[in-house]
Amino acid sequence: MMLLDGWKTFRLIRQALASSRWSLVDLRQVQEERIRMLLNHAYHNVPLYRRLYKEAGYHPEEFRSLDDIGEIPILQKNRLKQASPEEAVAQGIDPRQCGVVETSGSTGTPLRIFLGATDQQWQRVVAWRILFEHGFRWTDRTLEIRMTFGRQFFVQRLGIAPKDWCSILDPPEFWAQRMVKTRPDVIVAGAGTLHALAETVQTLGLKLPAPRLIVSDSETLSPATRQLVRGALGRDPVDVYGLVELSNFAWECERRSGFHVSADSHIVEVAADSGEPGPIITTALGMWTMPMIRYETGDLAEVETTLCPCGRTLPLLRRIYGRRVDSVALQDGRRIFWPFFHEVLGRYDELRQWRILQDEINEVHLQIVVPNSAHGLLSKIESDFQAVLPGEVHLRVERVEAIPFSPGEKTRMIISKVGTANEQHPDSVGQEH
Ligand SMILES: [Zn+2]
Repeated sequence: MMLLDGWKTFRLIRQALASSRWSLVDLRQVQEERIRMLLNHAYHNVPLYRRLYKEAGYHPEEFRSLDDIGEIPILQKNRLKQASPEEAVAQGIDPRQCGVVETSGSTGTPLRIFLGATDQQWQRVVAWRILFEHGFRWTDRTLEIRMTFGRQFFVQRLGIAPKDWCSILDPPEFWAQRMVKTRPDVIVAGAGTLHALAETVQTLGLKLPAPRLIVSDSETLSPATRQLVRGALGRDPVDVYGLVELSNFAWECERRSGFHVSADSHIVEVAADSGEPGPIITTALGMWTMPMIRYETGDLAEVETTLCPCGRTLPLLRRIYGRRVDSVALQDGRRIFWPFFHEVLGRYDELRQWRILQDEINEVHLQIVVPNSAHGLLSKIESDFQAVLPGEVHLRVERVEAIPFSPGEKTRMIISKVGTANEQHPDSVGQEH
C-alpha cells in the first residue's frame, strides 16, 4: 500500500512537470474541468460554501468557463476562521480523522486546515514538483530548517529523498554544523532563516561545497538576502511562494524572472487596477476535504503578462509584495512597498540589512546594519533616502547591530502601524515538503 502510494506520488509529479509546458488551451481546459467539479462538490457537500454561495445568490451551475470565475464569491480568511470544522469540512468526513495543519496566528485565532490522505498527497506533490523543476533527484539529501518537523515518509526510510530536519529554535551555528556534517544537496528554509544561516557560515569562515539547490520560502526574499546567500552558500536561492493552507504554488524558474504559477494545481487571480499590486486570490484544485475556492490570501502581487523565456507556459507573477501592512503609508493614501526601498538602498554594498518601522503617517524610521568602518554612510543614506520620499515625510535613520530574527515569525522588511488597524498580523508559514 505504501509503495503503491509512493508510485502514485511519482506519477503525479511527472504529470505536474509535464503540465508546465502544456499549451495555454490545454491548461485552461484542465483548470475549468477541475474547478467545476470542485465547485459542485463544495456547494453540495460543504456547509460553509453552501451558505456563502446562497447568501450571495450564486449557484455553481452559473459557471460556464474561466471567464466567469469573478462571479464566484470570494472566501475571506476570517470567514474560514470562524467556521467550525464541521462547516468547513465536506460532509461524511470526520474532521477528527483528518490531518491538521495550522497557521501559527501569532495574534488572534489560528486557522486550522483539515486534510485527508489524498489532500496530503496532493500538497506533497505540488511542493515537490517545484524542487523537480529545479533538477531535484530522489537521491538528493535535503536539509530543512523549520519550526515543526515534517514526518518521515516510508520511501525516505528506504533512502529515497533523504531528509534532515533542524529546528528554527536551534542557534544558526547548529544549522551550520549540521551542514558540515550532512553536506546537503538541497536546503529548504524561510528567507529569514537562510539569511541567519548564510551570515553564520560567513562569520565562521566555513568552506562548504555549494548545495545544488537552495529554496527560500515562507517570507519575502529580499535582494540583500539573496546576495548574501549566494555569496556565503554558493548558490542563488530559488524564491518560492505558498501558504500553509494552500501548499506552495508560485516559484522562480532558472531565469528568476518572476514567479511561475503552478496552474495545473492552483488558479491564481490578482485583482488589481492597472499598474497596482492587487490581492492574490487562489483556488487549490486538489483539496477536497476542506476545499479552498477563491480564497483571499491577504498577500499582494503584480501580474506579468509576457511568457517566460524558459519555455514554460505557466502564467507569471512579476512580483509578490506580501501584505498591505508590509508597506509605508503616505498621506495621500498611497502605499510604498519594499521593491521601491530596495531600489534606493540596494546601491550601498556596505548595507547588510535594513528594516523600516512606521508608527505614524509622515514618520519613517529606517534601521540599517552597516559595518563599523563605514564612516559617513549613515548621513549619505539619510540624504539620498530623504530625497526620494515626499517632502512631508520625516526620516530617522538608525544604525543597529542586527535586525532581530524571531524564529517562528515572518521576517518583515517594513512594519507599518498606519492605516492597517483592520488588517491582521501576518501568520507565519512553514511548508512541509
Ligand atoms: Zn520561466
